[in-house]
Amino acid sequence: MQLTETIAHRVKEAIARSTWRSVDPVLLRMMQEANANEKRMSVRWGMWAAVLCYVLYGAFDWLLLPDVAYRLVMVRILVGVIFIGLIEFGFRKNFSLTALNILAALAIVTGATGWLLFALETTHQTALSNFMMFGTVFVLGANLFFNFRFMISAISSATVTITFALTALLSLQTELANRLVLAAYFINSLVFSLYLSWRLGSERYRTFLHSLQARIQEQAAVERGQMLSEIANTDALTGLRNRRAITRDFTDLCEQWATDDSKIGVILIDVDYFKRFNDRLGHQAGDDCLVSLANALSATATANNAIAGRYGGEEFVVLCKVADCDHLHNVMGKLCRAIEDLRIPHPSTDIASGIVTISAGASLSRADKSADFYSLLQEADRALYISKFAGRATFHIYDRETMNEDQPHQDIPELLRTALEKQLVSVVYQPIYDVENGSVLGYETLMRLRNLHGELISPAAFIPVAEHTGAIVELGIWVIDRACRDMVEYGLGAVVSANVSPIQLKAPSFPLRIAEILQRHGLAPHKLALEITEGIDIVPEAQAEWNIQQLRSLGVQIWLDDFGTGFAGLASIRHFEFDVVKIDRSFLHDCQTAEGRMMLHDMVKLLRNLGHMVLVEGVETAGQQALLRRLGVHAMQGFLVGRPLPLETLDRAKVDRVA
Ligand code: C2E
Ligand code: MG
Ligand code: MG
Repeated sequence: MQLTETIAHRVKEAIARSTWRSVDPVLLRMMQEANANEKRMSVRWGMWAAVLCYVLYGAFDWLLLPDVAYRLVMVRILVGVIFIGLIEFGFRKNFSLTALNILAALAIVTGATGWLLFALETTHQTALSNFMMFGTVFVLGANLFFNFRFMISAISSATVTITFALTALLSLQTELANRLVLAAYFINSLVFSLYLSWRLGSERYRTFLHSLQARIQEQAAVERGQMLSEIANTDALTGLRNRRAITRDFTDLCEQWATDDSKIGVILIDVDYFKRFNDRLGHQAGDDCLVSLANALSATATANNAIAGRYGGEEFVVLCKVADCDHLHNVMGKLCRAIEDLRIPHPSTDIASGIVTISAGASLSRADKSADFYSLLQEADRALYISKFAGRATFHIYDRETMNEDQPHQDIPELLRTALEKQLVSVVYQPIYDVENGSVLGYETLMRLRNLHGELISPAAFIPVAEHTGAIVELGIWVIDRACRDMVEYGLGAVVSANVSPIQLKAPSFPLRIAEILQRHGLAPHKLALEITEGIDIVPEAQAEWNIQQLRSLGVQIWLDDFGTGFAGLASIRHFEFDVVKIDRSFLHDCQTAEGRMMLHDMVKLLRNLGHMVLVEGVETAGQQALLRRLGVHAMQGFLVGRPLPLETLDRAKVDRVA
């Protein structure tokens, strides 16, 4: 039974009301209906017991009223059989409790009056007047033995009493005093037992009210508990599972899915450029956006037997049961598409797609199920960095092979923290050639990181982590310092370039630190070039823009790296004067097709028209080199003409001129 608030309110009022006041009809009905089956059963067995006694009392008939005993006993048996039959019939036919009670009450009245009718014919009137006293048994039965509703008790017991009292007064042939006493006795019994019946009924009603109240309180406590646990496990904004719940879900899923060969995929999702979305449209719009994304992720997750949760900020996590890597790939693709299909416009005009997208990284549990949630999450996090690094709006699965992760728990943040102190970082230099005459124009400095076993870790894996943890600030300065030192000591052509991360560029002290390095090594500023990747949206970053101006006025060259891959695009090349624009190698690699060639051709033409010096990265074949020459590209870089090498082996590369 549902204990609604209305019922709770009624119970409270009913308990406060005094016993003498009328009862609440709804609650009374509830009480009567409560345990109806047990009550029906008790009427049935009560009836059997009553009939048995009724028939056994026939022995007194033989003793006290022998002249009519035969008929009386027949009446007892007949009434008993008829009503037992009726009650059994009613019970089997599922008569209501009230119907069974009415039958039982009828049985009492019929049993009493039927017997009296035939008993009156006896000549033993004195014996009858004594025996009639037992008539009160019927009255007590109706009022106390059966748990009839008060009305049924009252009507049946009153009928028996009136019949017996009137018979005593009018039909008995005994002394008047005797008859009066007998009638008074009946009336007394009725009043007394009716009072008891009423008291019992009201006690039962109050007990029922209190038990109902206890149940309501228990139900409220359970509901409160459920609500609390729901609050504790739910993200307040999106309604998704929160970080704590998702962590527990992982353990549960491990147990549930341990029975088959499936693996668990942990997908970490980050909303691309969400900070800008928030900054430009406000936090309310940001919240609305997160809710829409959460709904889409949750629906897609559910459709793919997965669970979605919010991990914090604009980060979501999805746990899914997958057969293999391809399956996980498939789920990730669906999640990314679900978000793109929402087509939520992004306020940044320089985002190519113009809509809100997500980047995702995932990790797959091991066949031996050894990896714990946090290791998988850490791996997913690294894969996510790769996705961001690859230009966002994409997804990657953590691959132990390519990410140099022979040690299952290689901790890149920890490695980066102590990298300088343990001399795990170094630099390599890749030559930059003049396309026209094949002379070395300078070198690009690229950072290298080794783990404690001396194995190289890909920049694609550690640079994003260094940016995320802030380690890039010191590492980046170290690289620039090393490049300047080597430039002064060994001479690295006309210019040495170094890559600068957006994090570095945003630090107010950055230009000062560069000036200090140049001064310490005595290097002319124009011999240092800083490569800013096109992924940085410099325009809205006032500090970055200011720093660029400062560096420029210092005389340091500013180059634009990976042109064409990011969102800054034309906006940034119109806004800034770059000394060199480096076209990303993907454009050169697309030159197998006529459209690809046309695209590169247009880009070069555009940049040249704007007055930029153009460098193309990733030259791997002689054909590509010839193409660059035809397109009028100024400079080139690539494995064909010179791989990134440590300083010690550079000399060879230097003499390795291109024809
Ligand atoms: P990037 O600045 O665009 O560097 C060029 C990348 O292309 C280098 O990868 C280089 O080894 C690779 N490369 C050069 N020629 C070819 C070629 O012909 N074919 C192919 N397939 N690749 C070629 P690397 O060293 O793995 O660096 C990757 C990225 O990591 C760099 O891209 C740069 O954005 C970042 N990075 C490297 N060192 C630093 C650093 O000191 N500071 C910062 N902030 N980022 C760095
Ligand atoms: Mg570069
Ligand atoms: Mg590049």
